[in-house]
Amino acid sequence: MKVISTEIQVSIKDVHKSFGTFEVLKGVSMDIHEGEVVCIIGPSGSGKSTLLRCINALVPINSGSINVCGIEVNDEDVDELSLRRHVGMVFQSYNLFPHRTALQNVMMAPIHVLKQNRDEVEVRARELLAKVRLSEKADAYPGELSGGQQQRIAIARSLAMRPDVMMFDEVTAALDPETVKGVLNTIRELAEEGMTCVLVTHEMGFAREVADHVYFTDHGVIVERGSPDELFGNAKDPRTQDFLSQIL
Ligand code: ADP
Ligand code: MG
Repeated sequence: MKVISTEIQVSIKDVHKSFGTFEVLKGVSMDIHEGEVVCIIGPSGSGKSTLLRCINALVPINSGSINVCGIEVNDEDVDELSLRRHVGMVFQSYNLFPHRTALQNVMMAPIHVLKQNRDEVEVRARELLAKVRLSEKADAYPGELSGGQQQRIAIARSLAMRPDVMMFDEVTAALDPETVKGVLNTIRELAEEGMTCVLVTHEMGFAREVADHVYFTDHGVIVERGSPDELFGNAKDPRTQDFLSQIL
């Protein structure tokens, strides 16, 4: 049985977010503890991506508060660089630099953003390529890699900033089925090593296996939260039951 730290790394309190007159998040609250693996599931358009984007300040919130590792995200003078060092995010589209090798892609941010020493960055980047099991692809260009391999490079690139929390937004949704497994294995290993992970995913089997807590969102609210067994095995709310019956 996994013991979860009492340390709260991400604290989300009554967050509201509108785009124009359309309220996408209608009072979302969630505490994420150090080492916890949280899965957020729910229909398309329910606000999952928006929530992740609010957590790392890609979009501002209208009210409520988000605190990440002691940083108040909606402070107007928030240091976004320091926030980005705490939270890594991987998207469905991996957006690697096409004219840079896999190794160079992983090395770029530590060298250019964090101004770290190139030799040390390279040592660390090679360790990260080994971690995502792509050491032999260090000199390959993104175009020479499968979607799943590119996504694993994108994960390594994000880890190069040594984040405390990793967020994954449907990172396998666009992949060929045969390459999904490698990406999920990488995420599973990170979770097992104790990385705090926030996953938005449609891979329900995976969510059930790796999550400590699952949140079901619909129309901008958290409808139901619980352990994977509670949520997948014994959902209480009709909206959760309905969603799960359509996709399981
Ligand atoms: P999910 O990830 O759960 O599918 P999103 O958070 O992407 O949902 O989107 C929630 C709603 O917010 C959708 O209706 C979407 O069209 C809308 N939305 C998301 N981003 C923007 C934006 N930048 N401007 C306007 N509407 C947006
Ligand atoms: Mg989304």
